[in-house]
Amino acid sequence: MRVLSGMRPTGKLHLGHYFGVIKNWVRLQEEHETLYMIADWHALTTGYKKVDEIPQNVEEMLIDWLTLGIDPKKSVIFQQSKIKEHAELFLIFSMITPKSWLEWNPTYKDTKYNLLKIADLSLMFKGGIRDNLKTFIAKLPYKIEDFESLEEMLLDNVSDALIQALFEGYLDKEMLKELNVSKRDFYDTDTYGFLGYPVLQAVDILIYKAQAVPVGEDQLPHIELAREIARRFNNLYGETFPEPQAMLTETPRLPGTDGRKMSKSYNNAIYFADTKEELQRKVMGFFTDPQKLRKGDPGRPELCPVFFYHKIFTTWEKVEEIEEDCKRGKLGCVDCKREMLKNLELFLEPLREKRQEYAKDRALLRDIIKEGSEKAKSIASKTMEEVREKIRVG
Ligand code: SF4
Repeated sequence: MRVLSGMRPTGKLHLGHYFGVIKNWVRLQEEHETLYMIADWHALTTGYKKVDEIPQNVEEMLIDWLTLGIDPKKSVIFQQSKIKEHAELFLIFSMITPKSWLEWNPTYKDTKYNLLKIADLSLMFKGGIRDNLKTFIAKLPYKIEDFESLEEMLLDNVSDALIQALFEGYLDKEMLKELNVSKRDFYDTDTYGFLGYPVLQAVDILIYKAQAVPVGEDQLPHIELAREIARRFNNLYGETFPEPQAMLTETPRLPGTDGRKMSKSYNNAIYFADTKEELQRKVMGFFTDPQKLRKGDPGRPELCPVFFYHKIFTTWEKVEEIEEDCKRGKLGCVDCKREMLKNLELFLEPLREKRQEYAKDRALLRDIIKEGSEKAKSIASKTMEEVREKIRVG
């Protein structure tokens, strides 16, 4: 079975990417014909103002793919923009895709919300509220040990709440002005390309006649749209595209250092490119059960992200011991984090070394992309010959 998947090049990968996507890709390449796409045209959907970052991000992401086990001998690794046939089929599909399919796509609003530059928005909101927050915290009748981390925590939560409020329609022009945020910034993604990006996704799949696409539940409407476009094309011009199936994959929600979902935008991620020192700083700063203030306090491991990591990286017997000792107050969070750090480091250290090797060999990276893109192009151009013949244009 031919399986296709891709990722927008947003830079270095973190643990969440590995457990959510790459681990599954590595398994699939053992069982199927796999094509993995570096979706650099998709990076323009929201990043068209920051194009300087894209080439570097492509390389960093490829380095991580290789480090984590995507094997160019087993999978076709290619760069979307190297295969211009994607753009041609995108144009043709744009002609036959009813606008309402895109506007009513249930993920459109959510995706718009997610893909907007949340990190940038968050920073803008932070800028607007920072001064007042300092005064507010200073007035609190508590002795605050770590003023800065409390401030950061509040700033994060408040700016997240503001972003939510904005999208729910609760922030008017005046409030935005007070927060020093221009509404124009939110419309950077109000573009034709953004509305049409599921059409480009359909192209990515159909141009290779992929039979299956590994996706999380949130991506199901996009696969459905690809199937609808395939059906419409086939009805209009004759059987050409197979309808791709979604390979629903469970994506575990790996917590970041602050307990929220690991994400670059939240600044809570552990990267494969992190140095040993960076890893140590991040792990020792991990959020834990807030009710466990000192060693003797009983903890709730089921609510603690550190324990979540133990369940992945620590031996089963030791996990049971940690769970029990945490609940009984026999184990302190500092020791618990040290143990987690040790085990996580065992997993990350060899990968860090492997990553450095790939990072040194830029010529190899270029060759891998070139070779993979040539293979992908040969499939795509064959499909396009068939399409041109069917539509009598081109
Ligand atoms: S002892 Fe470990 S599992 Fe328990 S709250 Fe602290 S860090 Fe979390």
